[in-house]
Amino acid sequence: MRKKIENYLDIIGINKVAEIYKNAQKLQGIHILHINSTAQGGGVAEMLSSFVPLMNDVGVHTGWRVLHGTPDFFTITKKFHNALQGDTINLTEMKKSIYRQTNENFAVFTHIDHDYVIIHDPQPLPLINFYSKQQPWLLRFHIEFSKPNDLLWEYFKRFIIRYNMLIVSNENYLKKDLPIEQKVMLPAIDPLSPKNINLPYSTIKKVIKKFKIKTDKPIITQISRFDKWKDPAGVIKIFKKVREKIDCRLILCGSMATDDPEGILIYERLVKQEKKLLENGDIIFLTAENNILVNILQNVSDVIIQKSIREGFGLTVTEALWKEKPVVASNIGGIPLQIKDGKNGFLLDPMDYSGFADRIIEILRHPDLGKELGKNGKSIVRENFLITRLLNDYIKTLFLVRE
Ligand code: UDP
Repeated sequence: MRKKIENYLDIIGINKVAEIYKNAQKLQGIHILHINSTAQGGGVAEMLSSFVPLMNDVGVHTGWRVLHGTPDFFTITKKFHNALQGDTINLTEMKKSIYRQTNENFAVFTHIDHDYVIIHDPQPLPLINFYSKQQPWLLRFHIEFSKPNDLLWEYFKRFIIRYNMLIVSNENYLKKDLPIEQKVMLPAIDPLSPKNINLPYSTIKKVIKKFKIKTDKPIITQISRFDKWKDPAGVIKIFKKVREKIDCRLILCGSMATDDPEGILIYERLVKQEKKLLENGDIIFLTAENNILVNILQNVSDVIIQKSIREGFGLTVTEALWKEKPVVASNIGGIPLQIKDGKNGFLLDPMDYSGFADRIIEILRHPDLGKELGKNGKSIVRENFLITRLLNDYIKTLFLVRE
């Protein structure tokens, strides 16, 4: 079914829908291009797959292209990603050359005559060097980069200063040493996507049977790529603590994004390490790229955990809050923008394993508490983190850049 803004009337109300139509009028006839580096897996692809059709629906012609890269390229850009989140990096000429060359090669066959170009994350960042710039270029960084590696940041700045604007997900990521316009734009979820829509009980039953998910014990779930920053090993540690008090199961669901080559290595290491618990079904690993499955897991879980060490925003938290689930999460990155401790979830220091376990036990022992937290969560998302708000933000921002 084609995505249409009018289908959101019942969720956000007639005034907000009218405002989107009105603002979009100002961009009629405009052609916009988004470029990122993966069509599926991770939050950026998730947002673009809803956002791009909706922009077209309101009359703003919007395209989306995906940068083609080799495994070498994505290994390097994952290292860059890690260094932006604070890791050290050996920034060799070879790495820089593969990074630039891949972008240059892509530019040869990617013809751009749009009115705006929006680049997502560092992978396609250097593209701007390979065009004679005829329109505004905006750079959208979705990652956490409050304290990036200095060397890499200096290297990146040379590309970034060519852009008209840098858009980030959190005030803490704004950079004093960057002489271009910067703006905070909060991410959002699509309440009508297969991942977030209400599903009939018959579908839920069918899918949990297909994926052999038993609901005889309480379920704790983390939905996240197998990435060290999402700390799946830490989640398992917490689960083991909870299990000392309450019998339960843990589900780790992490599909493999094509621009994240580390996922499979981390996954395989954990499979070896947790052989016994995986065999008896107390821990379940799922790697399918399946939006309905994610929706159902978030629905059937008793607690959602998000034990990230770094988190640009954390759409998985938003998705769980929308489903009225209690979320126990790290107090880092974009998570505290979504969770107020004790009101719609619990926030903890990422290293406080016992704290995580205690909060999960508290929710499992007091289902009314979980329900109360969940209800508050949904209204926070409705007010602040729906795709319709993001649409309006982009339209207004693009209009401003044009003036
Ligand atoms: N996701 C998914 N399947 C998985 C794991 C994650 O569809 O197995 C989705 C998840 O539902 C969310 C996005 O990928 O929409 C992850 O976004 P987030 O901002 O949480 O983290 P990122 O991966 O962008 O760092």
